[in-house]
Amino acid sequence: MNPKLTPATFVAFVADIFARRGDEEYLGEPVTMSQHMLQAARFAEQAKQPDEVIVAALLHDIGHFTSEFGTYSPDDTEDRHHEDAGGDLLAPFLPPRVTECVRHHVAAKRYLCATRPDYFSKLSPASVHTLSLQGGPMSADEVAAFERNPYLQDIIKVRVYDESGKRADMQTPPFAHYAEMIQAVVDRHCGG
Ligand code: FE
Repeated sequence: MNPKLTPATFVAFVADIFARRGDEEYLGEPVTMSQHMLQAARFAEQAKQPDEVIVAALLHDIGHFTSEFGTYSPDDTEDRHHEDAGGDLLAPFLPPRVTECVRHHVAAKRYLCATRPDYFSKLSPASVHTLSLQGGPMSADEVAAFERNPYLQDIIKVRVYDESGKRADMQTPPFAHYAEMIQAVVDRHCGG
């Protein structure tokens, strides 16, 4: 964990990542990284999801910026596990309802491809490419284990918002729109 990161500095730390790195390309999609995460959050917000689910959608790919292995490239032949990097970064500050959605948003794609026949056809070409790096659709045993996660429904929702947040033409509020909401979730979790 970053030793300078505290419940009081966490939101500014994340805001800084959005500001400095948000314009980077998102996995060969027609949106930047910040547009992608802001769109995912917006879909959660429009669906009147709880703050934790909105925050999870907003921060689900934060590990792309903080992984020691760097960001994803379409030339990758191995997965970089940005979902674990993100979950580890957030875990001291955000509750499991958020961190489980972040940690499992990649597995959720493998889960949905195994359990919903129409889901694979909705994936973008870049998402199909990473699916193969990530292990392809889940086996029956993996599906059964995944369904034991108490946050399964939230994890699936965040995955669907993630998949939707790839629109070249969508306007969203800026990161600042969510700053107070994130701080409130941090404070509830950390007792601030
Ligand atoms: Fe994503």
